[in-house]
Amino acid sequence: MSPTEADAALAPERTQPSPGSDGPADGVRLRFDQVTLEYRTDHRVVRATQAVSLDVHAAERYVLLGPSGCGKSTLLKAAAGFIAPVAGQVLLDGQPVTGPGPDRMVVFQEFDQLPPWKTVLANVVFPLRVALKLPADVAQARARDVLARVGLGDFAGAYPHQLSGGMKQRVAIARALAMQPRVLLMDSPFAALDALTRRHMQAELLALWEEIRFTMLFVTHSIEEALIVGSRIGVLAPRPGRLRAEVNAHEFSFDNAGSAAFQSATQRLHDGLFPPAAAAAAQRRPAATADKAAQTASLQDAA
Ligand code: ADP
Ligand code: MG
Repeated sequence: MSPTEADAALAPERTQPSPGSDGPADGVRLRFDQVTLEYRTDHRVVRATQAVSLDVHAAERYVLLGPSGCGKSTLLKAAAGFIAPVAGQVLLDGQPVTGPGPDRMVVFQEFDQLPPWKTVLANVVFPLRVALKLPADVAQARARDVLARVGLGDFAGAYPHQLSGGMKQRVAIARALAMQPRVLLMDSPFAALDALTRRHMQAELLALWEEIRFTMLFVTHSIEEALIVGSRIGVLAPRPGRLRAEVNAHEFSFDNAGSAAFQSATQRLHDGLFPPAAAAAAQRRPAATADKAAQTASLQDAA
């Protein structure tokens, strides 16, 4: 990939954080400060991200956008406290993240993130009781309230296997939001859903955000989803993952997804992620040295 081309595609953008009401004094809820993350196995070290710096402000919908393998999930795991940076640090309201905590809830892509032997209600109640130590009646009331908000009021007694994929994702989101986390971490939560359900879920998530104004870090490799779900987008480049640009997405929604402005933003993000000249050059390269070509192919898959 040619950084120059990509930078040219994304250069004009200046981003402004969305205003947050419940945040710390500087408005920064989650800060990645020069975060380098690695995986170590017996044989080798994989550098997943390189000196990534970005700020997620309170009540912001920050989307990490990038092709497969660019370190999106790894950054999310660092925010969740599942892995520690080898350099730099992750700060939550100014305090270094040192491990997992109930103030950062994660929603994954997988449909089987809910214990199947617990009802929907019990699934939502469980972390409220265990992690927040809420009394049973308080936990139940809060769980019922949030289930109603995600349209599952009538399914409190159902078991996960009785629900569709979209409904299970709603339970996972309800369970996370019921904890009232300082930041909601979502790793491609809708990627496994069919297109129609995915749209519904995106719309529902935005409606919930309008109501609750939670802070969200959302990972996707879909440009359209990034523009619709995000108020701001961090564009990542792969190997190792670096922050290439930040792009405003406030103005984009379902209502204007067909507009010229939306199309041009899509094109700009696409060109930033997949510079056309670099892609063409990579395709001309012989297979034996086609490291970049392989990279380009996976980039195109991700698009
Ligand atoms: P993304 O979520 O953007 O697809 P990841 O954060 O999963 O990317 O991965 C970033 C890089 O780290 C990739 O090169 C990937 O192969 C590598 N990686 C991810 N998880 C592991 C792991 N458990 N062990 C070793 N390497 C990993
Ligand atoms: Mg991932």
